Amino acid sequence: MIEHDKVRELLALAAAGALTAAEEKQVGEHVRSCVSCANELDAWRPIATELRRLPTPQPSSWLLQATLARAEAKLADEAEHVLNRHIIIFVVTLAWLLTIASWLVFDFVSPYFGSLLGPQFGHTWIGFAAFTALGWLAGGVAAVMLAVRQRGERRLA
Ligand SMILES: [Zn+2]
Repeated sequence: MIEHDKVRELLALAAAGALTAAEEKQVGEHVRSCVSCANELDAWRPIATELRRLPTPQPSSWLLQATLARAEAKLADEAEHVLNRHIIIFVVTLAWLLTIASWLVFDFVSPYFGSLLGPQFGHTWIGFAAFTALGWLAGGVAAVMLAVRQRGERRLA
């Protein structure tokens, strides 16, 4: 009967999940043999659930762990987004470098190719625009391939 009184005091905390492992075990064992305490624990459960939804100055270990897990998941998600943004910036930069490099090569051989393609492909902005478009296309294809590969990996994970 002494245990009954002791457990009775812990029932509200038990419903809130705020007990230590030892206390939880004690309550669990007692309510299996005591209908009165089992009923009271059941009565506390919906109240404890409602209380958990309110912001509490002293969060239970359950709430703290759930919040930490959610924060960790969010951080991991954000880290992945940052990584994706870095990859896209890298791809775009590479595309630009390739564009400029190939333009320099084209400019170097343009006296020969320019005569084949026509005078407008010589030292003009049209030639550079064509190469820029080509560079952006290559960068875009690389970005799309990367995105498709990543989605495939996530599906496997
Ligand atoms: Zn009892």
